[in-house]
Amino acid sequence: MIPVSCFKGERVALFGLGGSGLVTAHALVAGGAKLTAFDDNPDSVAKAKAEGIPTGDFRETGLHFHAALVLSPGVPLTHPKPHWSVDLAKAANVPVIGDIELFCRERARIAPHSPFIAITGTNGKSTTTALVAHVLKHAGHDVQMGGNIGTAVLSLEPPAQGRIHVVECSSYQIDLAPGIKPSVGILLNLSPDHLDRHGTMDNYAAVKERLVAASDLAVIGMDDNYSAAIASFLEAKGHKLMRISNSGKLDDGVYLQDGRLIEAKNRSVSTVIDLRTAGSLRGDHNGQNGAAAYLACRAMGLTQQEIQAGFDSFPGLAHRMEQVGRAGKVLFVNDSKATNADAAAMALSSFERIYWIAGGLAKDGGITSLAKFFPRIAKAYLIGEAAPAFAAAIGGRIAFEISGTLDAAVRHAHEDARRDAASEPVVLLSPACASFDQFKNFEKRGDAFRDSVLALEGIGPVKAA
Ligand code: ADP
Repeated sequence: MIPVSCFKGERVALFGLGGSGLVTAHALVAGGAKLTAFDDNPDSVAKAKAEGIPTGDFRETGLHFHAALVLSPGVPLTHPKPHWSVDLAKAANVPVIGDIELFCRERARIAPHSPFIAITGTNGKSTTTALVAHVLKHAGHDVQMGGNIGTAVLSLEPPAQGRIHVVECSSYQIDLAPGIKPSVGILLNLSPDHLDRHGTMDNYAAVKERLVAASDLAVIGMDDNYSAAIASFLEAKGHKLMRISNSGKLDDGVYLQDGRLIEAKNRSVSTVIDLRTAGSLRGDHNGQNGAAAYLACRAMGLTQQEIQAGFDSFPGLAHRMEQVGRAGKVLFVNDSKATNADAAAMALSSFERIYWIAGGLAKDGGITSLAKFFPRIAKAYLIGEAAPAFAAAIGGRIAFEISGTLDAAVRHAHEDARRDAASEPVVLLSPACASFDQFKNFEKRGDAFRDSVLALEGIGPVKAA
């Protein structure tokens, strides 16, 4: 845990006692703050109280004489409207901050030059965060990984010289971290998302821009207009900046070409990483994640060889194009996180010969946008409520069966794929649907897929193809 000492002896209010809120409350108490914590959910308040956290409804007292309101990133700061605790803080002229800000203030206090890599973007944040942390660890560094990826940042070991913090930041977390100043700030991409909480695309982009604008070195994706505009703007101001792309060549920067990362610098061009040997980083989208990770690791002093070895041994993240096993030449891939057609498109574009398990609780738009991938699909195995609608959308253009359950789909797909003449037939769970009709969440669906795969005869661990 990182005790937060910057508010020692001062009054601090905290709202939001979910997982990271509770950790933050403990960190503030450990650092000597006079804390009052609260949540709209009485069960969360009771749980915090049972753990020794001082709790109370600060609507009764107001927030005058408080040094800060610490807000959970899940609680609305501005849109659709500020939470009542934010209104109270504004009325008392009290700053509203989050756990990443507390981390940054502690870092500034105890180890201001310790390496801190912060990662944001609309898509690919967790993959890039996990990849950077893995490569650095693989090369023998002392690495702490947390933030939006699931481990509350204040539950990590404290910043120290030589210890690298790799932190995934959502837009909500950046919004609550006015003092964020990473050594390396990565902005992967920007597309409309979470506009219910940020109002407009311009506001959303402005929040994400703050992370790179405040970094010692900015790494920015050039594959969408918003991110490219941010890069130009920072460059004009003389900011230290490196560009990445997965959709075109760059004169200066790292880009994806034919499965390799190419670095262009001072008019010379060289291949720096071969992504084709990194089994967990298939697909063009991972070119963007890989290019960002490469530059962050180079900035930490790693050699090209060390980074390649880290990429090749990266196990990937669970449920995101996760390679769960191989039976002969058939590869089984769990992409349960793909709960809509856009996400499934990433996986379908990453493999050549696919036995596709899809379905669940359908989302608006269905799978019509996926028709361009049908030539890669040897057969579809449809499950859940969406099965009849998906069958209709396929409209006889590819072979399909209504398998009903995930387990039946896995067994039938394996039977068919093992007879395929292709060099690497892939049984892919990429459902393009929510899971709630048959599972509690996408993680449980992915776990069930993995269990069914591992129960098949002849299944073994994955080795690079
Ligand atoms: P995030 O943490 O930003 O939600 P993840 O790394 O968890 O992103 O990836 C979630 C899904 O988003 C992946 O399964 C993949 O379909 C897609 N994805 C990953 N990286 C990118 C990227 N760089 N660009 C676009 N989509 C991506």
